[in-house]
Amino acid sequence: MERFADIQILRYELKDWNTLSLQQKRLIYCLAQATLWGRDITFDQFGKYNLQIRRLVERTFPESEYMMRVWFSNGIYHHYSGKKFLPDFSREEFMERLEQLCQQGVHDIPEADDLQELLSVMFDADVMPQRVNHTDGEDLITTSACNFYDGVTQAEASEYYAAMKQTDEDPSWGLNSRLVKSGGEIQEETYRIGGRYGAYIEKIVYWLNEAKQFAEDESQKNVITLLVDYYTTGCLKTFDDYSIAWVRQTMPRIDFINGFIEVYGDPIGIKGSWEGIVHYKDLEATQRTVTLSSNAQWFEDNSPVDSRFKKPTVKGVTANVVCAAMLGGDEYPSTAIGINLPNADWIRAKHGSKSITISNLTAAYDEAAKGSGFREEYICDKEVLLMVNTYSNITDDLHTDLHECLGHGSGQLLPGVPSDALKAYASTIEEARADLFGLYYIADEKMVELHLLPDNEAYKAQYYTYMLNGLMTQCVRIPLGENIQEAHMRNRALIANWTYEHADGAIEMVRKNGKTYLVIKDYLRMRALFGRLLAEIQRIKSEGDIEAARLLVEQYGVKIDADMHREIRSRYERLNIAPYKGFINPKLEEIKDAEGKVTDIVVDDTETYAEQMMRYSRDYSICKS
Ligand code: ZN
Repeated sequence: MERFADIQILRYELKDWNTLSLQQKRLIYCLAQATLWGRDITFDQFGKYNLQIRRLVERTFPESEYMMRVWFSNGIYHHYSGKKFLPDFSREEFMERLEQLCQQGVHDIPEADDLQELLSVMFDADVMPQRVNHTDGEDLITTSACNFYDGVTQAEASEYYAAMKQTDEDPSWGLNSRLVKSGGEIQEETYRIGGRYGAYIEKIVYWLNEAKQFAEDESQKNVITLLVDYYTTGCLKTFDDYSIAWVRQTMPRIDFINGFIEVYGDPIGIKGSWEGIVHYKDLEATQRTVTLSSNAQWFEDNSPVDSRFKKPTVKGVTANVVCAAMLGGDEYPSTAIGINLPNADWIRAKHGSKSITISNLTAAYDEAAKGSGFREEYICDKEVLLMVNTYSNITDDLHTDLHECLGHGSGQLLPGVPSDALKAYASTIEEARADLFGLYYIADEKMVELHLLPDNEAYKAQYYTYMLNGLMTQCVRIPLGENIQEAHMRNRALIANWTYEHADGAIEMVRKNGKTYLVIKDYLRMRALFGRLLAEIQRIKSEGDIEAARLLVEQYGVKIDADMHREIRSRYERLNIAPYKGFINPKLEEIKDAEGKVTDIVVDDTETYAEQMMRYSRDYSICKS
């Protein structure tokens, strides 16, 4: 596996690819082309000089670590922190190579002033140091290096958009444009055919139109048509119509996102960064969530919770589990493993939203965890290690499904209890409730009966890793001396610490060669404890007992033992695990017969990271010069 700086590169597998029909594969192929054509847009949005720098470094230092990082971040700013990183070659070395290019007759090297400006953006740490600045009190627009505004101050931008906001159902103003001031006047450069990024959007639209002929049904055709209209006119009202049509469409086998979507890249949260993804339904995993939801009433009726707190009729949620087939723009190479869209609040309230989890990406993460040395470091018993490596991919996914499809939807409040009764403890208690529901049931015989687990031993992998994480390893992400803040982490610590304390020796922490290890002696006793805690947490929620919530969270979910924290972190640091990961895309290739007719689309996963990046820069880029 490839590794550079703080990054590890993974591959994802196109599971069950050959069960897709030729029509479905061709639909994916066209949508994948539309996904790849947006790459340069994201580069340009993430910094005015990004594309120019990428192109020059590709011709001067293509094998440098800097090059690897620029490709990974879609520019010169760290993909996660947004901080500028500097080249691992000197300004002089760079200029020397540019000189050589000039002598070879390469023409598009910037001259004099432009070159000086470019060099200082690349090499001077304090010139445009941050892609997105959130420092309170500063002008967030003029101090951010992202390329959504030019010559405009924060006050001017805010004023410009405030004047447009009139009703709740207005389109998402400003989402698809760059705001510029020229000649004293502020105007929007809209991203559309004939507008900013027009040449790229034409390519995207071409492939969307190609995709239409392979669409699965009329509603999908309609979704694509609306997206093409939006890209053609830049009209955000059309984008809203598209989003509504997309949400209303029942989950088709193949689906995609392509557009200016998330606004984290803009310090004032108006402008959308371009992103793309194509995915197809993971039938096996979706079968799993359908099985759970259709048995939702059985789970509710048989839970260890007091019957007053149970729902008389409960409806499970079917989670949409998909496989990614192509990632692009802000979703590439670093990507989300779950997506919930659209973002417009009024559309969500009126029409709902679609949410997916991407199983072939989580599987790749799990595979990477196996090879990282992490499990070997914290699990000293060989049998336990084997069990975890064998089952944890299945049990992690199943626990997530139980949590999402059943856990959150189970239980009811007593009459008169307000839904916000638990205040600051509400999210931790709610996550604990869903996690415990999953932990209690993953050990149930029903799991094997419903063919969700292969045998009655598998659940132990989940019990072990859950406790290991909650008691010990999750704190590697927290700086020494700090408490646990985040609700999901507090929930895990709460469950693990409470269960450990009440286990009467069924769970032990032992010291071996100066290191602490977790030993579980009685898994059934653990299940009984999870059931007991679930009953109590549900009581707290149903009665709105904030005092009990506060005691549980503060006693078990917030503090970390200082010695343990130091030990776990120093063991982790020695493993030297890359904190960030990203993916190489598969290469999709058309197979044609003698008449040039496409007979199949095949997946090639032999390309290296650098080969892929160079190919994208060559095949999906438009040079103005
Ligand atoms: Zn949750």
